Amino acid sequence: MSDELSMKCGLEIHVQVDTNSKLFCMCPTNYKDVEPNTNVCPVCMGHPGAKPMPPNKEAIDVAIMVAKMLDCEMVYDKDIYFQRKHYNYPDLPSGYQKTSVPIGVKGNFLGVEITEVHLEEDPGQYKPDLGTVDYNRSGTPLVEIVTEPDMKSPEEAREFLRQLMRLFRYIGHLRGEGTMRADTNISINYNGIQGKRVEVKNVNSIKGVFKVLKYEIIRQKNVLRRGGEIKMETRAFMEAQMITKSMRSKETADDYRHIPDPDIQPIVLDTNWVDVVKERMPETPIDKEKRFVEEYGIKEDDAKVLVSDLELADVFEKVVSHFGADAKSIALSVTWIRNELKRVLTYNKVDFVDSGLTTEQIVELIESIANKTISQKIGKKIIELMVENKGAKSPKQIIEEEGLTVVGDDSEIEQFCEEAIKNSAVAVEDYKSGNSKALNSIVGQVMKLTRGRAEPGKVVKILKSKLD
Ligand SMILES: [Zn+2]
Repeated sequence: MSDELSMKCGLEIHVQVDTNSKLFCMCPTNYKDVEPNTNVCPVCMGHPGAKPMPPNKEAIDVAIMVAKMLDCEMVYDKDIYFQRKHYNYPDLPSGYQKTSVPIGVKGNFLGVEITEVHLEEDPGQYKPDLGTVDYNRSGTPLVEIVTEPDMKSPEEAREFLRQLMRLFRYIGHLRGEGTMRADTNISINYNGIQGKRVEVKNVNSIKGVFKVLKYEIIRQKNVLRRGGEIKMETRAFMEAQMITKSMRSKETADDYRHIPDPDIQPIVLDTNWVDVVKERMPETPIDKEKRFVEEYGIKEDDAKVLVSDLELADVFEKVVSHFGADAKSIALSVTWIRNELKRVLTYNKVDFVDSGLTTEQIVELIESIANKTISQKIGKKIIELMVENKGAKSPKQIIEEEGLTVVGDDSEIEQFCEEAIKNSAVAVEDYKSGNSKALNSIVGQVMKLTRGRAEPGKVVKILKSKLD
């Protein structure tokens, strides 16, 4: 019997918002740079009777940006209140975490449905091995993104998270992967047997999520293969061993007893507020894609690829504005950025922003191709070299150092043609006796002699004039 296996993965992703002060008090959020338990006050220490301040507006603004960028429907004109989510753990002095109801819902990012975006507070840091707790982090704002279980492989989940972190960098005001924690849900279907959903809590890197999914597929498959059952449960990721371990099963699942926090004024969003935030934020990927199609007349598919890397999309626009937005320049920019540059970046597993390349270098390269200083073939080689030496050399430097300029001079090409004819006696005879295909091998010779720097069309013309 052949094995049939499929999986579904959903994520709950938490990332810190980069505000100066905490979500419900004025304590600073630079918890990493200071002595333990120095950025604290009665509010973030959960002292009885301490009244939280209204939620930090900057944190709400950033959550709005995230929801908009993920194409969510905003929750307008309704009380967005903070709830108390009760559980007992040493890092949570109040005994409950303050977490908002959704700010945005029903979004979509890379084909994965976004269930909701909301805000919550980070707990402190408990070190079980030392028995110490540091409350500096307690109350730092977190934005949480919940997805539907739409990801179907560990690779897809990894790519989703990479793109999400890239989007966060682009938005700014967020602390990115270094502060990420992702609750990772996975269920599998093995030969028609459906396992229940297993949740792995607090995985703190993209690589970790990938490893968890890989591990859980094998573990759950083995349980089902032996006739066992996958029950709904929560597991912990033991990073050092790269395994997961059961924490609690459904029977003993936590009841968080959510209640609205009576001490915190609900947020009410209206279109004015969101419009003001929109002024501060970069264009959403969806809007950018539409605009690229309308403004530059490029194909939807090309727009999608360009916009999938927002920094690359910026490069595209800068290059187009440099050359002027006529159809020919746009087509050239699409070819060299969307196809060639993107191909080489993907091959080297690097984003444009980390590649060391600059927009000016891309302009220079496309210019050299447009004015025929170099051939298309050489252009491809130069992009590879540029990415390889991380932008340390400009295209012009590479062209000079490697002697890659096009042999444009007819008399120069003529010399190479003559040499090729001399070296290809058999092919020349073939050609002269009527085998027109034999010319290809002589053209090949010329290209070899010029190291690909001659224009093939010109070479054919000159060879024909000499042999016909
Ligand atoms: Zn405080």
